[in-house]
Amino acid sequence: MTDQIPAGEPPLGSLSCPEPEDRPDLWPTTARRTDDGELVLGGLTVSEILAEAPSPVFVLDEADLRGRAASWAAAMHEEFWPSYGMAGGEAFYAGKAFLTTKVAQWVLEEGMGIDTASRGELAVSLAALQEVSGEEATTDATRLGLHGNGKTQAEIAVALTHHVGHLVLDSLEEVELAVRAVRELRASGVYGPEETGKVMVRLTTGVHAGGHEYISTGHEDQKFGLSVHGGAARQTIDAIIAAPELELHGLHSHIGSQILDLAGFREAVGIVLTLRHEVAVDTGHLCPEVDLGGGYGIAYTGADPVPPSPAQVARTLAEAVRETCERLGDEVPTVSIEPGRAVAGPTTVTLYTVTGLKRVELGEGASRLYVSIDGGMSDNIRPALYEAAYTALVANRRPDPQAGLVRSRVVGKHCESGDVVVRDVDLPADLAVGDVLAVPATGAYGRSMASNYNLFTRPGVRWVCEGESGWVLRPETIEDLVRLEG
Ligand SMILES: *Cc1c(COP(=O)(O)O)cnc(C)c1O
Repeated sequence: MTDQIPAGEPPLGSLSCPEPEDRPDLWPTTARRTDDGELVLGGLTVSEILAEAPSPVFVLDEADLRGRAASWAAAMHEEFWPSYGMAGGEAFYAGKAFLTTKVAQWVLEEGMGIDTASRGELAVSLAALQEVSGEEATTDATRLGLHGNGKTQAEIAVALTHHVGHLVLDSLEEVELAVRAVRELRASGVYGPEETGKVMVRLTTGVHAGGHEYISTGHEDQKFGLSVHGGAARQTIDAIIAAPELELHGLHSHIGSQILDLAGFREAVGIVLTLRHEVAVDTGHLCPEVDLGGGYGIAYTGADPVPPSPAQVARTLAEAVRETCERLGDEVPTVSIEPGRAVAGPTTVTLYTVTGLKRVELGEGASRLYVSIDGGMSDNIRPALYEAAYTALVANRRPDPQAGLVRSRVVGKHCESGDVVVRDVDLPADLAVGDVLAVPATGAYGRSMASNYNLFTRPGVRWVCEGESGWVLRPETIEDLVRLEG
């Protein structure tokens, strides 16, 4: 190959996608190659999967998702086990990462609760909870939560009616709405005359962490939460404590997303528990629970480090909580966390078919191969939205090492030049139209953020498990697209 890589870019070969055997954390746990070199997921080869579910398609490894949910739940239960002087720990799946009734059932069955941020996510989670635990569970939905800034009174009332475990208020206005909702529930007899609404408060701690400005939420100049340092948090907390309709159950902090260094979480623990202490000194109310949010990072490409395990995360948090409470002389709270990406992200691979190849000359002998695929920003908006990096592996055959590599960019078929799925990857130089590319780690914020831009039908999500497969979510059809037209 005479073509050069563009000046200033890393050497050819350094941007190749790792095989599942080399970086298992990047791939679903069942991913491997057959002797013929085809990628296998959940016991099915890529050609077997595509025969039932044409590309583009998200392929979700059910055993992997269940396993991750079980690991997070177990890690929190074990590290915060009450007999170790702790008060219990729980993991809630952040449903916004990817939620359907089936996925909600899987995570509930494996021991996680579910955090929601809308009427839709809450309704799907309630339906799953009813399936898993019976109808009684939905009137005491302690395993569910409701988040969000700018909640309406109706949304708050739904959460209170079902007694969700974590109703996380985000403003002083929401306190007023919750008070009114409880009064109405008492008046209508849904609540007893003295019954209170259990609420938490979302704090902004000032801790800076996370991948991109849009997904970093602990710093204070932003829409989420109430500032600990500015006094807004304390004002809201005092309003809740003063309201006979409400009970302040806990404090909540979510410092950001895609965080691989645990130092920020330790810092947040100190800030949240110190505020809890100050509130107790001033009012006598020691919050029984603290929720430390989500944001645990995953690997998207070979350049990302291997993320900490659920056990490492839970141990770090437990140590920080224990030390801080000892120093303050407070009883330890129950502690919960809300991983989303770390549960769903690595379980899913998007399969695309190569539809076109274009070598673009960049001058001085350098060139880049633009690889068109049958999807794009409508099924993965994260590169355009957050400059998120992904990688891609040829999945229908094992690439011939003799063929060499070419610096490539994988692009979608939308009417935007920013429609890039993989910005930089070294692909085999004999890549051909019809080859299948697998993009790993698309389980979180992939299908859940998909759009119908250009009137694309959104791809389906196919579960695979031990050689079986089915739809988690069917692919949209043109009929679906026109169904809502007035
Ligand atoms: C987004 C979000 C999460 C989950 O974040 P991940 O990065 O997917 O773990 C958890 N809690 C809250 C409040 C969130 O907004």
